[in-house]
Amino acid sequence: MAIQCDTQILSILDRAQQGKAPSRDECVQLLDLADSSLEAAMMRGVADSIARQRFHAPMLQGQIGIEFKPCSADCQFCSFAESFTQFDPFKMAPEKLREHTKAFAESGKPLTALFLMMPHEFDYEFLLDAVRDVRKIISPECRLVVNIGDFTETQAKELKETGVTGAYHVLRLQEGVCTKISREERIATIENVKNSGLDWYYCCEPIGPEHSSEEIADQILLGREYECYQHAAMRRVNFGHSPLKANGSISELRMANVVAVIALAMIENPELTSIAVHEPSGAGLLAGANTLYAESGGNPRDTKEETSKGRGHTMQSCAKMLEEAGWSF
Ligand code: SF4
Repeated sequence: MAIQCDTQILSILDRAQQGKAPSRDECVQLLDLADSSLEAAMMRGVADSIARQRFHAPMLQGQIGIEFKPCSADCQFCSFAESFTQFDPFKMAPEKLREHTKAFAESGKPLTALFLMMPHEFDYEFLLDAVRDVRKIISPECRLVVNIGDFTETQAKELKETGVTGAYHVLRLQEGVCTKISREERIATIENVKNSGLDWYYCCEPIGPEHSSEEIADQILLGREYECYQHAAMRRVNFGHSPLKANGSISELRMANVVAVIALAMIENPELTSIAVHEPSGAGLLAGANTLYAESGGNPRDTKEETSKGRGHTMQSCAKMLEEAGWSF
């Protein structure tokens, strides 16, 4: 019996193999595929093959949450949100930060980037001190990235002069609906990042079952429009008292399909250096992702104050997952 397959999808995948990225409507079509269909499996295979030829090597990155407090952005998917957080305010002591940084830098596995994470309203001077401290420990080749609230172009330039190489900044799904930050504020910061010459790390997040293929496609394509340095997919994690818990969560397979659409959508973007999947997922690594993050300190997806004792993966567990997916260091 001949294999039956949707010829329109085959044509999108054929063109992708020839270097032509799908249009917005085609991304929606791909995101609409049943997660476990033959066409979705073929899409993941094509995306995986293109990503392996394109990226050549895996990337291991680390993130340290250095400050948390009840956050006025009140994102309904975040355990720091002021209306329901159960955390007490916390700022990481310099010696603890050095300890966490050494744990990533001296793990025996290559650390390609270290991220420092803070809430929407953050202590800027504290961040500059942390950047100076961390820079003394990590190798000059290791990239240093901030994952913080909105900031100005002047601050972006000062961060760069202090040793930061990039910023993770995302227009989240349903920004302004599930969060108290406007779409305009997020985009303004993305423009500040780009104008300052910092690398821009982006992500389609936090994906839940309630998000339509159109919403997901539009969010993916913002990374294409503004030429991100790293793209990624992240599913929403529902913790005990999360207001969005009733919506449920997407499977790793669904997240892998989103990763595959990202890999195809970004084919024609020369700025792109890697695709990550958050939290680490073997399925995502077989659909176009080559990057995983280990985590320590505070984590907005966790209810443990120290995420390395909770949801956070270690450098070793991320390296193992990458190796199991066929990547070698
Ligand atoms: S996701 Fe970030 S901006 Fe939103 S509440 Fe959490 S810490 Fe604040």
